[in-house]
Amino acid sequence: MSRDINNKYWDEELETLPHDQLEARQLEDLKEIVKFAYENAPYYQRSFDAAGVKPEDIKTLKDIEKFPFINKTTQRDTQGVGSFLGELAAVPEEEVVFISTSSGSTGVPTMSPFTKKDFDEFQDTESRWFWQVGMRPNDRYVHALNFSLYVGGPDVIGAQNLGALCIWGGTLPSERLLFVLKTYQPTVIWTSPSYAWQLGEKALKSGIDPKKDLNIKKIIVAGELGGSIDSTRKAIEDLWGAEVFDFYGLSDIFGACAAMCEAKDGLHIAENHILVETVDIHTGEVLKPGEVGELVFTTLRKHARPLIRFRTGDIGWIDNTPCKCGRTHGRIHINGRKDDMFIVSAVNVFPSDIEAVIREISDITGEYLIRVFEKDFTCKYSVEIEKNADNKKSDEQIAAEVSASLKARIGVKPYSVIVHPDGGLDTRSEHKSKRIIDERKLEYNI
Ligand SMILES: [Zn+2]
Repeated sequence: MSRDINNKYWDEELETLPHDQLEARQLEDLKEIVKFAYENAPYYQRSFDAAGVKPEDIKTLKDIEKFPFINKTTQRDTQGVGSFLGELAAVPEEEVVFISTSSGSTGVPTMSPFTKKDFDEFQDTESRWFWQVGMRPNDRYVHALNFSLYVGGPDVIGAQNLGALCIWGGTLPSERLLFVLKTYQPTVIWTSPSYAWQLGEKALKSGIDPKKDLNIKKIIVAGELGGSIDSTRKAIEDLWGAEVFDFYGLSDIFGACAAMCEAKDGLHIAENHILVETVDIHTGEVLKPGEVGELVFTTLRKHARPLIRFRTGDIGWIDNTPCKCGRTHGRIHINGRKDDMFIVSAVNVFPSDIEAVIREISDITGEYLIRVFEKDFTCKYSVEIEKNADNKKSDEQIAAEVSASLKARIGVKPYSVIVHPDGGLDTRSEHKSKRIIDERKLEYNI
């Protein structure tokens, strides 16, 4: 490979393009994709006509605001309708080379189709993220993500195209994965943040010190918010003696659409592929950069199934201020899923806020379970935690400390804090952890 390994950018011109030039490029692609969607996807033709908009209405990037939203329900309602790929697809099936499907954890799984060009551009974006976190051809990389149907599976090809030695780990049992880490001494791994933590703990328990016996220098995490919660990220970094970088992806678009750089202050989003808006979760009104709302993405270059104004269900904000790393693409900050947010005494609470507090408190293990419920027709939450085996404080004292920290940081006290012994919570899973139980029966329109 002729690429200069000392250059910090994978694609310097693209990654450092002045923002006005990046926007000019976005506008060109936006005009093309909106026209392509209108002419080839039955759903868009119908919805644009119903809204009284046409592709020629796009004269500036802001004109996207005239177009109707779509969401997960739109995908579900249109898939399989009229053809195998459904009414949001804009190419015939013979042009599609790959489909991934969502986990279906919040309903019927939705599939995401890619043409050959979509797929190649997806992988080039993945190579760019891997390069951004410092992966180089002399690295050994373990891709410890699910390969079955999951959109993050093929991201390993991006690492391979970069020239790294790739080990397609998948979701191996921990003992096998630790064997791989010890025997092959890989330098980079990608997994979920909760699993990175648990794997490190398991290594220690089986007599392997991740810092001394393993060679992991970088841990990429995605799928949960931990990598963007400073206290969680630092805890994983300390456990492994490695740097942790957060990636963010959507099964509807790419494996990773955004990734942290060395500044670790938000995740650069591939603005050459995605036009980002933030909207008010209630009214759909477009918000300014820096304001927190639901992230809405328009895919600019994915032709198999263009997504025009897709409401992601993720709450966050976009930061367009210059980043120390020199990259000009905006950075997104994710607060959590709209579905996981709950409101206590008029305060919006995300499980990630609670996690940030729990992980900062010493003498407890960092494991937690949140229960959201109603009492007297108002929403309450309780938190269950584990104390460290050598913690001498009484359960009451620990509960009071945790409660006070949550009140100070989030603004609302938990209804109760239940203290378990080390290992007493059943939240350590091999993959994504279930850490919130929602027992509410009333309808909340948030
Ligand atoms: Zn940066």
